[in-house]
Amino acid sequence: MHITDLIHGNRHFQKVRFPHYEEDMSALVRSGQKPQILFIGCSDSRVTPDLMLDTKPGDMFILRNVGNFVPPYSQNSDFHGSSAVIEYAVSILNVRHIILCGHSHCGACRNLFELPVDAKNYIHLNKWLELGESARNEAVALHGNLMDREQLYRETEKLSILHQLENLLTFPEIERRVEAGELSLHGWYYQIEDGSILCYDGNLRRFIEPE
Ligand SMILES: [Zn+2]
Repeated sequence: MHITDLIHGNRHFQKVRFPHYEEDMSALVRSGQKPQILFIGCSDSRVTPDLMLDTKPGDMFILRNVGNFVPPYSQNSDFHGSSAVIEYAVSILNVRHIILCGHSHCGACRNLFELPVDAKNYIHLNKWLELGESARNEAVALHGNLMDREQLYRETEKLSILHQLENLLTFPEIERRVEAGELSLHGWYYQIEDGSILCYDGNLRRFIEPE
C-alpha cells in the first residue's frame, strides 16, 4: 500500500461510492451529526468499524486507541485524549449506547505478557498498557495453568473488555446516565479470523453469538 494508492482510492470513493451517501451527507452537513453510538475499538489496522458493522457516515462516533483501553476518570490537567472523546460523546452528543469492542489477536494484550526488550524506551506506551494489567492478572489467576499461551491471550482480550467497561463507569456522567436508563454499555469481541462479533451477556456472564 502506497500513499498514491490512497489518493486513487479517494478518487474511486468520490466517483463511485460517495453519490450513494450524498443526500445523507448533505443533511448531516446542514443539521450536524447526531450519532446514537460511541464505538470504542483498538487502533489495530485489522479492526475496521464502519466496514465490519456496515455503518454509514453519521452512525457512530468512534474512539480508537491502543488496546481499546479506557483510562479511569481523572480530574488532573494532563492531555486526556481518550477521555475527551468519551466526554464529548456522552455529555455533548448525548449518545445512547457505548460499545466497548475488543478483538482477537490484539497486540496490546499480547504485550501485557511479552514486553519488548527495549520497552523502557516507550514511555507513553508503557504507561498506557498499565490499563490492561488488571485483566492480565485476572486471566493468569483464572486460566494461567490451564491453557496454552494463545488461549490465555484470548481470555485476556475478553476480560479486558469487562475491565474497561468498569473504567467507563468511573466517569460520573456515565454512571449517572446508566442509572437513569439514558445510556447503555455493551461489551463486544470482534474475531478478526472470520469477521464475527460476540456480545457479552451480563446474565450468563460470558460472550455469546448475538441473535
Ligand atoms: Zn488491538
